[in-house]
Order: sequence, then C-alpha cells, then structure tokens
Amino acid sequence: MANVRLEGIKRRFNNVSAIEDISFEVPDGQFWVLVGPSGCGKSTVLRTIAGLESATEGNLYIGDVLVNNIPARHRDVAMVFQNYALYPHMTVAENIAFGLQMRKVEAKIIRERVQVVAQSLALEHLLDRKPKQLSGGQQQRVALGRAIARQPQVFLLDEPLSNLDAQLRDDTRVELKQLHQKLGITTIYVTHDQTEAMTLGDRIVVLERGRIQQIGAPGSIYAKPANRMVATFLGNPAMNIMPATYRPKSFQVGEQYIECPIAVREKLQPQEGQKFNLGIRSENMYINTTDNDVETLYTTSLQVIANVIEPLGRETLIRSEIADLGVQINVQADRNIQAHSGDRISLALDLDQLFVFDSN
Ligand code: ADP
Repeated sequence: MANVRLEGIKRRFNNVSAIEDISFEVPDGQFWVLVGPSGCGKSTVLRTIAGLESATEGNLYIGDVLVNNIPARHRDVAMVFQNYALYPHMTVAENIAFGLQMRKVEAKIIRERVQVVAQSLALEHLLDRKPKQLSGGQQQRVALGRAIARQPQVFLLDEPLSNLDAQLRDDTRVELKQLHQKLGITTIYVTHDQTEAMTLGDRIVVLERGRIQQIGAPGSIYAKPANRMVATFLGNPAMNIMPATYRPKSFQVGEQYIECPIAVREKLQPQEGQKFNLGIRSENMYINTTDNDVETLYTTSLQVIANVIEPLGRETLIRSEIADLGVQINVQADRNIQAHSGDRISLALDLDQLFVFDSN
C-alpha cells in the first residue's frame, strides 16, 4: 500500500488544457473521490496516476517514489474501468487470474488467490462462467476481483458503477465500501455522481474545468462549500441559488427583501447595489402555516409559488419559483402537506444557513 502525491500536475492536448495545476496527497489506505461534471478532467487525472497519460508538467509520487517516467505496468496500480474490459473468451477464474499469470506468479498461489478474491466478492459459484453469461453487476465484480487479485499498492476506479441500473448501483456501492474497509488499499475513485462522492469518500476533490474547486471531507464540503459550483454540485436536491442585490442591511431578491445577517455584513462589507448569489439549502427553509410557529423562530420570509409537487414518500418536494422573479426554488415539505400547483407559499429562512456567493 502507498500514499499518492500529485504536485502541480498539468496536462494539455494540442495546447488545450485538460487539467491545470492539480496538487493533492492521498494518505496511505484512504479512499478519495474525484468528482465533477463531465469534461472537468477527472479521468485525465486518474489516467495520469495510472501512467496511461503523461503529465505535461508536474510531479507524481506513489509511495514517495517519483513515477513520472515509470511506465504503467511497473507502477503497481490496478485500474477498473466503466466498461469492465473483461476478456470474453476467458472464464471468470481465468479473468481474475490473468494479471497474476502475466507476473509469473506460482500456479498454487494463483489458485488460492482466486479463491480468496471470489469469496470476498461472492463470485465462487460463477468461476467457470464466461463474461457474457453474467449480469452487469457480476461482470463489474469480476473486474474488481481481477484488480484486487494483484494486490496492488493503489486502486484506481473510473466510474465503475455507471453502467449498472439504480438498485445494483446502490448495492455495489455499499459492497465497494465494505471491500475497502476490509482491504484498506489506497483508492482513488472517479465519478460525476454526487451521491457516490458523498457516501464513498474519506475526502472529496471537486473539479471544474480542469481545476480543483475544493478538497475536504464530505460533511465539511456540504456544510461549507467554497463557491457556488461546489454548493450546487454536492447535495440533493441542489442548493437553491437566488440572484440578489445588496441594499442597506438587506438583499433584494426580485421585489422581496431578505435581511443581511450582521456576520455577513461584517465579513463581506458589501456595497449598495452590489450583486450576489444567495444560496440556501431546502432543509433550511420552513413553510409558514397558521398552525406552526416557524415565523417566530425565523423572522425572514420569502414568498414562492408552487409549480410541481413531487411526493417522495418520506417527504414532499415542492418545485417552486420565487414570486416576481421566476427563479427555481426547491422546498422540502412534510409528506402530509396539502399543496397544489399555483399555491403561494411563505417560507421562513434560517439565515444562519444563508450562503453569499459572487454574482458570476
Ligand atoms: P472527465 O473525466 O471529467 O469527463 P476528461 O479528463 O475525460 O474529463 O477530459 C478533460 C478534458 O480534456 C475534456 O475537455 C476533454 O475533451 C479533453 N481530453 C481528454 N482526453 C483527450 C485527448 N486524448 N485528446 C484531446 N482532448 C482530450
């Protein structure tokens, strides 16, 4: 096992920059997730670590060894791809054994290793099958098994769940986490899925347009997103964003006014007329009704108009828009709420949870 350190990694393709100045260090045994929208450079970072791309600039260390000039096959990393890349003519057992045979490992040890891997991934009853006789989830487990069997220092996973259907994706995600807890191999995992990032990562690296936006534990990124991109990318439903103009002691949102908390005023020292984006998560807005007292708890309210009502079982999501502005706002409501499209709803806002971002 090993730590992985990137120092100022850049990669250009024909003068077009794919990744810019990427630096981070994954400590030995941790599970890190690279997340961001399609095209943000996640795969390029992972492929650079694997040795399938070479960095235009920067240094890469695996276990404190500088590996810039070490070819992929000598880096002792195993990569699992989205499309599994199994050998169709080989059985499951042969697929799992392949990497070991290439390394001329003794036949007896190979047999033992295949058994152990098959057992840990519940593949024992499938060892004699060919890939086309397996479901997508089973194929992905074989691909993981092939990678584990080699006992690499580092595991690199590129969107390994994205070809699975929703239920299987959830199950396999949990299995992956258990597997990591058991094996403790340093893992770097690429996904565009915020749920996978939040649930799997010891740390999350959020990327956009080839640059790191924020690195942190899932909970701390959720609680303190560094910018609007991170705020709206992580969390489901996404954080609500509303354009606002600063007026003395308040933010004007359309025709409405939201009090500017003193702490925000002191920190930002906003100027009259300055434009911002305000962010608030739906769980920090409460529907004012005649029989609750949220109005007395949270004095700032916002009027919205319900658009689409989505009953989700445990709760109801009311897709709304801010009155007079037409900006979308998601409202989380009790599942017993009686709301209809077109209803005017008054929301009490917990201003301690208000985020103020730049206007762009
Ligand atoms: P992601 O994995 O986040 O979807 P990628 O790392 O695949 O993003 O790509 C990042 C950027 O680099 C994209 O703009 C993509 O078009 C570009 N890119 C990736 N690989 C190549 C390549 N071989 N040639 C040219 N451009 C590439």
